[in-house]
Amino acid sequence: MTDTSKQSDMFVQYKAIKKQYSDAVLLFRLGDFYELFNEDAVEISKVLDLTLTSKSCGNNEKAPMCGIPYHAVEGYINKLISKGYKVAICEQMQQAGAGVKLVRRDVVRVITPGTVMDEGILEETKNNYICSIFNSGNIVGVAYCELSTGEFGVLEFENNYIDLLNDFLVRLMPSEIICRADVDLQALLPCSRGGLVPNFIGYDEFKFSTNFSREILTKYFGIDYENKYDVKNKTLAQRASGALLGYLEETQKRSLGHINNLIVEKYSNYMQLDISTRRNLEILETLKDHRKKGSLISIIDKTSTAMGSRLLKKWICEPLYNEKLINERLSAVEELVTKLIERDKISNILNNISDIERINGRIAYGNFTPKDAKTLRNSLLYVPQLKQILFSMSNPLFKNFAESIPDFSRICKLLFDAISDDAPAILSNGNVIKSGFNSDLDNLRLIKTNTQDYILKLEQEEREESGIDSLKISYNKVIGYFIEVDTQYANDVPLRYMRKQTVSSKDRYITAELKEYQENIDNADENALKLEKNIFNQIRELLLKDYCRSLQTVSNIVAVVDCLMSLTQVAVKNGYNKPKVSSKFNHIYIEDGRHPVVEVLNKDDMFIPNNTLLDNKENKIMILTGPNMAGKSTYMRQVAIITLLSHIGSFVPAKKAEIALTDRIFTRVGASDDLAVGQSTFMVEMMEVANILKNATKNSLVILDEIGRGTSTFDGLSIAWATVEQIANNMDCKTMFSTHYHELTELEGLLSGVKNFKIAIKELNGKLVYLRKIQRGGANRSYGIEVASLAGVPENVISRAKQISNELEKNDLSKHVLDLSPDKSEIAQSQNKTHLEVIDILKELDINKITPLGAFETLLDLIEKVKGK
Ligand code: ATP
Repeated sequence: MTDTSKQSDMFVQYKAIKKQYSDAVLLFRLGDFYELFNEDAVEISKVLDLTLTSKSCGNNEKAPMCGIPYHAVEGYINKLISKGYKVAICEQMQQAGAGVKLVRRDVVRVITPGTVMDEGILEETKNNYICSIFNSGNIVGVAYCELSTGEFGVLEFENNYIDLLNDFLVRLMPSEIICRADVDLQALLPCSRGGLVPNFIGYDEFKFSTNFSREILTKYFGIDYENKYDVKNKTLAQRASGALLGYLEETQKRSLGHINNLIVEKYSNYMQLDISTRRNLEILETLKDHRKKGSLISIIDKTSTAMGSRLLKKWICEPLYNEKLINERLSAVEELVTKLIERDKISNILNNISDIERINGRIAYGNFTPKDAKTLRNSLLYVPQLKQILFSMSNPLFKNFAESIPDFSRICKLLFDAISDDAPAILSNGNVIKSGFNSDLDNLRLIKTNTQDYILKLEQEEREESGIDSLKISYNKVIGYFIEVDTQYANDVPLRYMRKQTVSSKDRYITAELKEYQENIDNADENALKLEKNIFNQIRELLLKDYCRSLQTVSNIVAVVDCLMSLTQVAVKNGYNKPKVSSKFNHIYIEDGRHPVVEVLNKDDMFIPNNTLLDNKENKIMILTGPNMAGKSTYMRQVAIITLLSHIGSFVPAKKAEIALTDRIFTRVGASDDLAVGQSTFMVEMMEVANILKNATKNSLVILDEIGRGTSTFDGLSIAWATVEQIANNMDCKTMFSTHYHELTELEGLLSGVKNFKIAIKELNGKLVYLRKIQRGGANRSYGIEVASLAGVPENVISRAKQISNELEKNDLSKHVLDLSPDKSEIAQSQNKTHLEVIDILKELDINKITPLGAFETLLDLIEKVKGK
């Protein structure tokens, strides 16, 4: 009878492991499958579209179950991770077989969105960051890590830390964020409320403690890490780092030797770009459909390596606010522009260098493959050429790189000597190590492939030694290989022969050598594979011990050179010029500037270049008017993008550009609902305006595109007007302001620093022709109806619109309001409000019902209202 009170051993094992990883989906290895049980099975079978079955688990019960074939697991993990699940991989830790009742199993790794290491899951040209946050008072410490490359950085924000942290997270776009479980910082961050970054995961308080962080930071960065990296005063960043390293160790369960350098970010070295500016300038994707095509990166990313592509994204998302660093990059690009032959050579080298940064990560992590080894050696072959060519350049940046490139000749030779040219992608199939590299391995292989030759050779040797010419080596299933000698020679056989059988007139012997050979044949395959794994592991360990840092160094250099090459190629191909960037300039001066994306995408229309001058004095605010579609937004964005490109060290689409060192670019462009954050168009617009008015400095560039459009004309115009006044009177930021409120052009002359510009158009036979040229002066009308006509709105609607427009123009109250100076406009607005109230009272009055006294009182009330009492 079966004992129904008992669950099966395997199921008890499953439950014990699942208990330790209750927050993860447990993939439990059973032979060729990863199985999921119970709630995991029920939920995940739906997510992954798997068939839900069941398995008997003892107690006469069945547990829900679904399974994934082990060889296809990567795709399924990918799907789970992208949906935000944590996945715990539980492997069999011993071979199933005779005498093993229940194989030992253990979780070898927990994969979370921020700790993915698998090539098939990671995006090649995109970094995958995990971030840890620890705050106290008004300081917040942040640590981040790219596990696939070992990049580990820290920084701290003070004072305005919510805004700064928000901007930082939007820049980094981590796929996972951990923080102390009892802290609810997330609720305060707009990017988090809007779902732009993942939900924070509460993590063990102890791991954020000072003691824990000291211990683990020492382990990773050395005993003197506080002085070496100058983080003594950054205690919160240290505590965030400690927890992050703790979390990585806990989930990855292995050494993370490639995390060996602490990057201490200086926040003030970067230009600040808030989320709306990133979006509005369409830096990484287009505003409307979130596609890469049409974005700035799609134009300037001509990198050849994945490392370069990842770095260029970083550069464009964090432009520099450091004159020296900017000019270093600019002069490096300048040299590349002039040196065509060197450029060609570098380009050829880069085309042959693979993602050694991530290969280095896999070396440290332990999932380095034979394919990686081949890719690595092929890439390293080109490093000496790169070194040589960088030495030949005159720019100190290149010279420094050349000097820092380590020597890989020995490891490169080893990889060529050891790894077979047609090694398969993974180690488990063997045939990875080249023959001739290891004699034991060669012998093992020889045994397997050359048994016949070996036996014939041995037979000959035995004949010679014994002097028995008729001696033969044969094989049967019972003994295996044996030596057969006629019984008449029994006395002549050497002493080492051991008799096994006598058949008719023949004796059968084995020897120690034959026995070992037999065993070797039996185990040849297995031993060869074991030995290959051993050799491969030794190579991996050597790489980790002696080359981890060097590979990181060369990866960085390759990435930077690739980015500079990309900027150069774009500059040459698209006719960009070197801008001058200086903190001594108070102006942005652009001659014949173009929009880098529009000029490429709209190839059919010639792009018309335009000039720009903005400064902190007479040319502080540019009021830009012109009909719809004239090119106002394009023009303003092009100024912002030229400023941004200058700050990443790129040449710019302009004949000449002098750009003041800019701390922030603010843009408020177009009207868009941010439904994800639950805010209406107008609310978003006003929040952005508030942010600008609060934070723009004299070093900022502000782009305001039609603010006030999302509300009534009166309110919108008033807000636009008051905003220009505020900037003109109380701020020094360089500002471009496009508007359809032509009334704003009256501010030139009224407020210092305000100048009007318009985009030229021509009316030909009642039709609009866009000239796209910026001119001094204000436009006096919008041509909205003409544009509607151009767009194909039916003729009857157009003519009715013209009629209504004429009527409205006759009764345009706003005229009375807006030709007033700022203080008069307040009076006018309140007068207008009174008029409307009086009209409302009169409308609601029922003359048939009111008493004479009531009529008198109402009249009195109206008189008082009008008199303003
Ligand atoms: P609206 O007021 O309706 O928002 P706008 O004045 O901001 O319009 P844009 O959206 O900037 O106009 O430009 C409309 C189109 O004109 C662009 O998509 C582009 O194709 C073209 N364009 C803009 N500037 C130029 C230029 N300098 N040269 C050639 N084409 C241009």
